[in-house]
Amino acid sequence: MTSDFETQLRAVSLRVTRPRLAVLAALHDHPHVDTDRVIALVRADHPTVSHQAIYDVLRALTDAGLVRRIQPAGATARYERRVGDNHHHLVCRSCGAIVDVDCATGEAPCLDAPGDHGYVVDEAEVVYWGTCPACATARISQ
Ligand SMILES: [Zn+2]
Ligand SMILES: [Zn+2]
Repeated sequence: MTSDFETQLRAVSLRVTRPRLAVLAALHDHPHVDTDRVIALVRADHPTVSHQAIYDVLRALTDAGLVRRIQPAGATARYERRVGDNHHHLVCRSCGAIVDVDCATGEAPCLDAPGDHGYVVDEAEVVYWGTCPACATARISQ
């Protein structure tokens, strides 16, 4: 797995560093986590990596397109490794759990705007808000 991450870093001309590999590994195992959780995951295995280094890595990986940053309204920014497929997200209003949903049509921008006002639309970001199964069950049993 690590060698995959090395290949991906080299493909976008980023130097292979331990913090970058650690962040990619953390996001591979834990999609849709916020910065604090990434820091906790990375530092569990690499206690010497600083918070600032992890912030910098997240920015570099996002800028390079290896990591996608999503930010549902009212939530902290989350990061994920699944990039480039225009997938969308289900978000639980109650607990904030996030699940991937495939693109509704298979390719960006997914939805046609009823009026584009002359804009060239390349992306429609869809967030499906609702209640996750765990929260729905908890509600019924209350
Ligand atoms: Zn929930
Ligand atoms: Zn996702």
